[in-house]
Amino acid sequence: MKMLQQELCSKILAGNLQLYGDHMAGEYKGFYIMIEPGNGQYIITVAAHLPEADNNDSVKDFLRDLQREKEQISGYQTEKYMVKFSVQIEKKEKDIAAVVNSAVEPLVTYLSVNHYISGCRNCGKTVSLANRHKVSDGYCFLCSECASARVPEPDFQGNGQNAFFTEISQEKSNAVPGFFGALFGSLVGGALWVLFFRLGIIAGLAGAVAAICAAWGYKKLGRCMDRKGMVITLLITAFIIYLANRIAWSWEIYDLMHENGFGFMDIFVELDDFLAFSGSWQYYRTLLVGYVLTVLCMFRTKRR
Ligand SMILES: [Zn+2]
Repeated sequence: MKMLQQELCSKILAGNLQLYGDHMAGEYKGFYIMIEPGNGQYIITVAAHLPEADNNDSVKDFLRDLQREKEQISGYQTEKYMVKFSVQIEKKEKDIAAVVNSAVEPLVTYLSVNHYISGCRNCGKTVSLANRHKVSDGYCFLCSECASARVPEPDFQGNGQNAFFTEISQEKSNAVPGFFGALFGSLVGGALWVLFFRLGIIAGLAGAVAAICAAWGYKKLGRCMDRKGMVITLLITAFIIYLANRIAWSWEIYDLMHENGFGFMDIFVELDDFLAFSGSWQYYRTLLVGYVLTVLCMFRTKRR
């Protein structure tokens, strides 16, 4: 595998990138480029901006046109100092390097003709190839100031100012409206759970979302988060996760069995019997993963 990666790396962009474990990075025609092989697709990040521009919208337009021309470009995204796009690789594709090159070359040409430059993703300042950093959404170049000042980015796990359970309020919350806030909040996560499950994404991630939304809902309607609020939030979240998982599994089994005359409710009520067929271990594992992720997410944010 390593050998294959090495060989691939030597063919991509005329061998100007270096292989670093799970990604390739280097300078090509004056631009700092990183390539991360992923699941059937390659994510390509180019540090690029126009010194005087407020945004990277013209590259975006360029990529839109490029995508129309090259169907292997499956997505693109620009930031003020960075351009990112993905290239789809067919399973039977023999020459991955050629596919990647044919997508990256036109962009690099465009950037260089239009006098773009490479710099820090955050401030645009000149960086060196050593300034690679792994952040939540992949690798990028950050100047040393930005890298050391980097606060963990607020992501959907609710880090940052809106942290979950950060301060336990000394004030008393209103438990009844708080209860409904937590209920509505966690239902969002519950719906997401079912959705993730159907899409084959780790449903447990939605457990963390449910907990965050529940805490948010509690605070919103219950005025603040106190110990009582924490207990209510946790209990509701645990219950909604259980319910969502049960619905997701019942739905799955319903898809397989409804032709045999089983209704969704029959399956939902008697789920344990139906699971005996397909192995209840997986069902409990999904639930367990959800609970573990939920607890981890709370623990993590609580300590901040
Ligand atoms: Zn910077």
